[in-house]
Amino acid sequence: MNFKVPRGTQDILPDVSWKWQRVENIIQSVCDVYNYKEIRTPIFEQTELFQRTVGDTTDIVQKEMYTFTDKGNRSMTLRPEGTAAVVRSFVENKMFGYADQPVKLFYTGPMFRYERQQAGRYRQFVQFGVEAIGSDDPAIDAEVIELAMTVYKRAGLSDIKLVLNSLGDKESRNSHREALIAHFTPHIGEFCQDCQNRLEKNPLRILDCKVDREHPLMETAPSLADYLNESSSAYFEKVKQYLDIAGIEYEYDPNLVRGLDYYNHTAFEIMSTSKGFGAITTLCGGGRYNGLAEEIGGPPAPGIGFAMSIERLLLALEAEEKSWTDEPSLDVYLVTLGDAARTKGFELIGKLRENGLRSEMDYMDRKMKAQMKSADRLHANYVIVIGEDEVNENTVQLKNMADGQQKKVSMDDLLEELKK
Ligand code: ATP
Ligand code: MG
Repeated sequence: MNFKVPRGTQDILPDVSWKWQRVENIIQSVCDVYNYKEIRTPIFEQTELFQRTVGDTTDIVQKEMYTFTDKGNRSMTLRPEGTAAVVRSFVENKMFGYADQPVKLFYTGPMFRYERQQAGRYRQFVQFGVEAIGSDDPAIDAEVIELAMTVYKRAGLSDIKLVLNSLGDKESRNSHREALIAHFTPHIGEFCQDCQNRLEKNPLRILDCKVDREHPLMETAPSLADYLNESSSAYFEKVKQYLDIAGIEYEYDPNLVRGLDYYNHTAFEIMSTSKGFGAITTLCGGGRYNGLAEEIGGPPAPGIGFAMSIERLLLALEAEEKSWTDEPSLDVYLVTLGDAARTKGFELIGKLRENGLRSEMDYMDRKMKAQMKSADRLHANYVIVIGEDEVNENTVQLKNMADGQQKKVSMDDLLEELKK
């Protein structure tokens, strides 16, 4: 019997995992600078949490969730996204009572969606996201967007663009909703079953439909832009002002509708504009969700956040043909020749590692040449050779791989020499 990795998932192998670590380090250091603290929530939650927050009319809830009944007969779901759990935790742990508001959080971890596998779309993928909860200052919207852009820039991406929209407040959305229902109702029979269900529940979702994308009524649908009330427009203007101050360019797209039900006001996506990138160009999506905490039984707590997958970030880097030049390397590779040298080498490598030197030696009893090849492949800065003579003299041959210089060094002086 042959076993395979489940469809839509992947093993992150050692020649790639270092890149993940690199991205994770960038994420942590950027979040540190912006004062976002990490939160870790469970991989699964009560199914109802996602139904309530992500929304019954979304693809995620209708088609993509990994839901199971546990032995206690409770319906549980592997988390398809991060915001619901973070806000659940915010409410449950009464973070609204923290002295410092807004509460600024970030997470990284696997998310699960039953999707059709294609490039950039997996059934298990890792999202990095941030949530700033407790403030409705437009400056925090700009801060969150800037943070996302900073992560991409620090990772080395340059072909990216920010697309921005405002969904307005409840009042604006309601009048837009009425207009949408009036617009689609006469021809709703020509739309897919999903859209027919969406008409009453959440007609905004129709605009996001992947099946009926080409229907002529999509083009002429009433635009949210025309339904923003005064305070919503003023809010949007301020967000744009702050982005200008931050020096962040954006493209306004009145048709940008985020896939989740709970957004209002600011909505944004960051896309790759690289020619090498496939059909899916969205790297990051986010927005404001002022009613979410209340929706799950908490006090009013306006929030804004985003999520990006690390898979798509790495794909975008590949598309731009960018790679980090500083691949992982070793400080020392220890070549040993013969049993006595191996024993001595084993003792020595322990000391090197104790002193924080990244070190490797041969465990395959290979010839000198093969060991030197390993040293090359592993990008060792130094090679230490121990043969029979060296064992007897208590010395080693120390080779600097950068300039090819080799010299004999006493075992006792070796650490000093390497520290130089
Ligand atoms: P899409 O329209 O591509 O399905 P979405 O609206 O479902 O995106 P969000 O729920 O907003 O995406 O998730 C935010 C980000 O998470 C996306 O911009 C993308 O980077 C990433 N993402 C979403 N689904 C997947 C997936 N199946 N595989 C890899 N990354 C994903
Ligand atoms: Mg999706």
